[in-house]
Amino acid sequence: MSRKITVLGSTGSVGRQSLEVIAACGMEAAALAANSNVRLMEEQVRKHRPALAALADEKAAADLRVRLADTSVRVAGGLEGVLEAATFGRADTVIAALVGMAGLRPTLASIREGKRVCLANKETLVCAGPLVLEEAIDYGAKIYPVDSEHSALFQCLEANRDRGEVKRLILTCSGGPFYGKKREELARITVADALKHPNWSMGAKITVDSATLMNKGLEVMEAMHLYRMPAEKISVVVHRESIIHSLVEYCDNAMIAQLGAPDMRLPIQYALTYPERVPGPSIPLDLWNCGPLTFGTPDMTAFPCLALALEAAKTGGTAGAILNGANEGAVAQFLAGKIGFLDIPAKVEKALSQIKAVQNPSMQDILDADQAAREAVG
Ligand code: MG
Repeated sequence: MSRKITVLGSTGSVGRQSLEVIAACGMEAAALAANSNVRLMEEQVRKHRPALAALADEKAAADLRVRLADTSVRVAGGLEGVLEAATFGRADTVIAALVGMAGLRPTLASIREGKRVCLANKETLVCAGPLVLEEAIDYGAKIYPVDSEHSALFQCLEANRDRGEVKRLILTCSGGPFYGKKREELARITVADALKHPNWSMGAKITVDSATLMNKGLEVMEAMHLYRMPAEKISVVVHRESIIHSLVEYCDNAMIAQLGAPDMRLPIQYALTYPERVPGPSIPLDLWNCGPLTFGTPDMTAFPCLALALEAAKTGGTAGAILNGANEGAVAQFLAGKIGFLDIPAKVEKALSQIKAVQNPSMQDILDADQAAREAVG
């Protein structure tokens, strides 16, 4: 399949796996952008030969320019450089895999160029869902989910023509590395404990989000926007095996599920190839040896971040931006060793109660809410 692709966040977990898919499926990496990982970016450029490489960190970009002096690759730096990659004329497709609210502007820039946007940056929709989706319609950009749960929902909804037939969306949740622990035990969780995630190799921020279950809460909000479903019609079920990636329950009580081995390369590939399916690098699911599948209820007392996110989803407006900004601030403090694991939900709750959510927000309202939330967590 001949796609020319920009990967925003190419040195992160989703970015690295995207490059594997791109190479395996014979597609072209047109531009790569990342934050500051010079060493890996140089390696990726030499291997995948994009025309443009951008690093958000100016010093890192200057270093990369020297390292790639023997090639014809253009090296760009700063937010300008990342935006140049996001809007790169040669690319028809963008994989938006930057982490956090920082991904919003580049993702919007790609949308405004009418690109096919494969979205892995869930914070973009959590903070500014309605605005981003409106712009996608205005500029004729198509958005396809990369997150495994949302890719599963997308596949379970494919035959559906009338959303009125959908009773609810059900997101599966692995339960995180601290599944089964009570609050007293969670209070003693250290940064090192939180970064030992059993299932996937992910960046530090999303690893902590997976441990607090905030990641699942952000995913509920992402699904709400992507599939235009009210928060009340989205449920979370704990499924430890991560074989079923999510389900749709229809009004006749039929449930459609999507199954697969826990391998991000499959949802990444489907976002790139939809509506086609092609052989790719993801590992097949061995149903005969995968063991029993289990289902349970999430413990929202031990993991209040999920409850806070569900509440913010119901509130709507800027509540998503407040929740996300407070969470990004609190997780950074936890990773710096300044606060405890249970202080993350406490700080998010405080921000949500202190800052009033604005309905039908403008982009400025969203940026203001994000800023106020970061200040509220200190
Ligand atoms: Mg996910």
